[in-house]
Amino acid sequence: STQIQLASRPAGWPVPENFRTAVVELPPLAPGEVRVANEFLSVDPYMRGRMNDVKSYVPPYALGEAMTGGAVGRVLESAADGLAAGDVVVHQLGWRDIAQGPAAGFRKVAELPGVPLSAYLGVLGMTALTAWVGLLEIAHLKKGETVFVSGAAGAVGSMVGQIARLKGAGRVVGSAGSAEKVQLLTDKYGFDAAFNYKDGDVKGQLAAAAPGGIDVYFDNVGGEHLEAALAAFNRGGRAALCGAISQYNATEPAAGPRNMANLITRSLTLQGFTVGNYAQHFPAFATQMGDWLAAGDVVFDETVVDGLDHTVDAFLSMLAGGNTGKMVVRL
Ligand code: NDP
Repeated sequence: STQIQLASRPAGWPVPENFRTAVVELPPLAPGEVRVANEFLSVDPYMRGRMNDVKSYVPPYALGEAMTGGAVGRVLESAADGLAAGDVVVHQLGWRDIAQGPAAGFRKVAELPGVPLSAYLGVLGMTALTAWVGLLEIAHLKKGETVFVSGAAGAVGSMVGQIARLKGAGRVVGSAGSAEKVQLLTDKYGFDAAFNYKDGDVKGQLAAAAPGGIDVYFDNVGGEHLEAALAAFNRGGRAALCGAISQYNATEPAAGPRNMANLITRSLTLQGFTVGNYAQHFPAFATQMGDWLAAGDVVFDETVVDGLDHTVDAFLSMLAGGNTGKMVVRL
C-alpha cells in the first residue's frame, strides 16, 4: 500500500517537504479485518492542527507515521462478518490507497443513484453534519432570524447557508475569498447577500449586507470576521464557534476580536463545538439531508484532485482557498 506520512512538523504554512510517500507491505488479513481500496480521500482544515505537536481534541499525527483522515472506498477482501467484497465503506484510514483494519472502523454505506461516493465526505458526511449541528444544536437558529456564515463557499459553510434557508432563516449572508465564490453563494446556494472579505472592511461589508443586524453567526474563520460579527449582533445573538482557519498557519498570536464587551451589553452567546461530540445527531441529519438532496433542495460543489500523489497539493490548496465546496482526492 502507498501511504503519505508526516515527515516533519510545519512552522507556519505547511510545505510539501513536511510529507513523504512510502510504500508499505500489508500483513495478511487477520480474523475480523477488512481490506479496502480507497476511492476518495478527504483533506480538511483540522488536519493542519494535527500536524503540530500540541494536545488538542484530537491527538497530533505521529512523526514518520501515516497521516489519517476521512475516506470512502470499496471492500477488496473481508475476514469480517457483515462486510463483503464490493461493499462501500466510510472510514478514517485516508491518505493512502489501500486501507486495512478491524471491521468496526468501517461503516457500510449505500451507493445512491446519481450521487458520487465522495458525497459521504461532504454533503452526506462530517462537514455537512458540522453545519447541521452548529446551526441547530449550538446556535439554536429560529425562524425569521438573520444568519451570517464565514467560509461560506467551503464544505461546511455552503451547507450552513442552505440549511439555514431550509430551516426558515429570514436572511442568510455569507463571506468568501473570491468574486467567483461570492457569486456562487447568491446564484447557486441561495444566500440573500454575500461579500468578498479580501476586498477589506469586513465590518462595513457585513453591515451593508445585513442592515437589520445579525442574530446567528456561524464562525469558520475567527479574527476579523468574529470581530465584525460581534459588532453586527442584535440583542440575544448566538455564535457557533466552529473553526478559526484565518489563524491555523499563523506564527504570531492572533489579534482581536477587540470588542468582546458586546457579549455583555447585547447578551450574546458564543459557543464552541467539535462535531465528534454530536454524533448522536447523525441519523436525523442523514435522513433530512438525503431527502433534501433527492428533492434538489440542497446542491453541492466538490473540488476534485486526481491521484494519491497529489493529496498534499490538494491539502495545501484547500488551506489557501483553492476549493469550492468539499475538497476531495480521487484515486
Ligand atoms: P473549507 O471547505 O471551508 O476549506 C477551507 C476554506 O477556508 C478555504 O476554501 C478558504 O476559502 C478559507 N480560508 C482559508 N484561509 C482563510 C482566511 N485567512 N480567512 C478566511 N477564510 C479562509 O473547509 P471546511 O468546510 O472543511 O472547514 C471550515 C471550517 O470549519 C474550518 O475552520 C474547520 O476547521 C472547521 N471545522 C470544524 C469542525 C468542528 O467540529 N468544530 C468540523 C469541521 C470543520 P476562501 O477562498 O473563502 O478564503
